Amino acid sequence: MTTDAPSVHDGGCTCRQVRYRLTSGPLFVHCCHCRWCQRETGASFALNAMIEADRVEMLAGEVELVNTPSNSGKGQKIARCPRCRIALWSNYAGAGDTVRFVRVGTLDEPDRLPPDIHIFTASKQPWVVLPPGTPAVAEYYRASELWPKESLERRAALVAAAKAG
Ligand SMILES: [Zn+2]
Ligand SMILES: [Zn+2]
Repeated sequence: MTTDAPSVHDGGCTCRQVRYRLTSGPLFVHCCHCRWCQRETGASFALNAMIEADRVEMLAGEVELVNTPSNSGKGQKIARCPRCRIALWSNYAGAGDTVRFVRVGTLDEPDRLPPDIHIFTASKQPWVVLPPGTPAVAEYYRASELWPKESLERRAALVAAAKAG
């Protein structure tokens, strides 16, 4: 499970102007097979590590936020390097600014964060064969049913902080 992974993950863009660090393991890792993610990556799926925004530390540079349409219709903000334009993470309207969806492929060691779940497999490209043992759902799921206890506690802390303002 991701919560057992060694805590720190560094990553960055292709031109190396932007460097960042995840100061802990993520909440959960989504492998999303929706058509939107296929278009945005130009490939077959997106691999996103969800993590609290305050656990993403900037080591170098700053990101540029680009408002981009999303599947939900509410839009997303994609954080990109202002120079090479590589996308590093997204904030979705649903989860708000407190949770970042970090693109696992931008980490220096992406192999350390395999998917915890495959979502929107209804539009999965047929040649992609999913491994047995990893949950897979046709569309979406309830975090309360699949996230590890520690991640649910971290999520509850975020909600409480948001209410406290
Ligand atoms: Zn760059
Ligand atoms: Zn998607």
